[in-house]
Amino acid sequence: MITLGSMALDSLETPFGKAENALGGSATYASTAASLFAKPGIVSVVGKDFPQEHMDFLQERGIDLAGVEKAEGNTFYWKGKYGFDINVAETLDVQLGVVEGFKPKVPEEYKDAEYLFLGNFEPAVQKSVLEQMNKRPKLVVSDTMNFYIDKDPEAVKEMVKLSDIALMNDGEARQLFGTTNLMKAAREILKLDSELAIIKKGEHGAIFMTKDSFFSAPGYPLENVVDPTGAGDSFAGTLTGYLAKTGDLGEENIRKALIYASSVASYNAEGFSLDRLKDISQEDIDKRFNEFKKIVDF
Ligand code: AMP
Repeated sequence: MITLGSMALDSLETPFGKAENALGGSATYASTAASLFAKPGIVSVVGKDFPQEHMDFLQERGIDLAGVEKAEGNTFYWKGKYGFDINVAETLDVQLGVVEGFKPKVPEEYKDAEYLFLGNFEPAVQKSVLEQMNKRPKLVVSDTMNFYIDKDPEAVKEMVKLSDIALMNDGEARQLFGTTNLMKAAREILKLDSELAIIKKGEHGAIFMTKDSFFSAPGYPLENVVDPTGAGDSFAGTLTGYLAKTGDLGEENIRKALIYASSVASYNAEGFSLDRLKDISQEDIDKRFNEFKKIVDF
């Protein structure tokens, strides 16, 4: 499984505390979550200031870093703040650094991967990685965010078209399709040549729709949210990693993958940066997976 996305240093403020220059980035969260299920490789870029300890951590997780370019300049920096509506991140500062003008080079040994996650980056960069693969992967999952929808919604829609699963959250879906109704937004995703639509709803779970079915994954009733940063990326990494591990893209298995994704994303929110993701085990994930079953049993 290959993951494209940012590797970042984040400064975060939530009602429960602060962190400065903590490890972050879409590829970092997604591949760390995916490594609980599969063996991910990253395509990304960092600056010379990116601490070696973070590279060592990723490597220890069995994550392949052959596709991580070390460039002159600073690592991507994001500063965000969450208020009491913990689902909404306010961006206080973004410094693109080495991400500006980044031209990804997919290593030869990645080019036959069957599972590809295109995390948050310019749609043109996402497309370039897809085009460098030797053949179309069995599954292409992509992600987007308001930053890229604001800049070029048509380019984002093209990526929705090129992906099997185009992930977005509720706010992003409303923005991209100009509707207040999530069911309508999901139908718009299906119209863009997609067999399925998944819309994440932050702490409230996710919906999964096909032409003739509907599934709702609940949010985990988490009582100690500390920092939701990376929840979307760890959700996406788990979804792709679990599907890569099982190799089954049937609807029933995608439903299971969504519950695993919700389970890992909920753990991620229990600590700042990747603190909690770093120490959860398969046992922890299964425990929450089983609790989800009880939550929807009636
Ligand atoms: P999430 O909370 O899952 O949406 O993702 C949060 C992560 O995305 C943070 O670690 C940020 O470093 C990273 N991020 C923020 N803005 C961008 C951006 N414009 N492009 C790529 N990654 C970003």
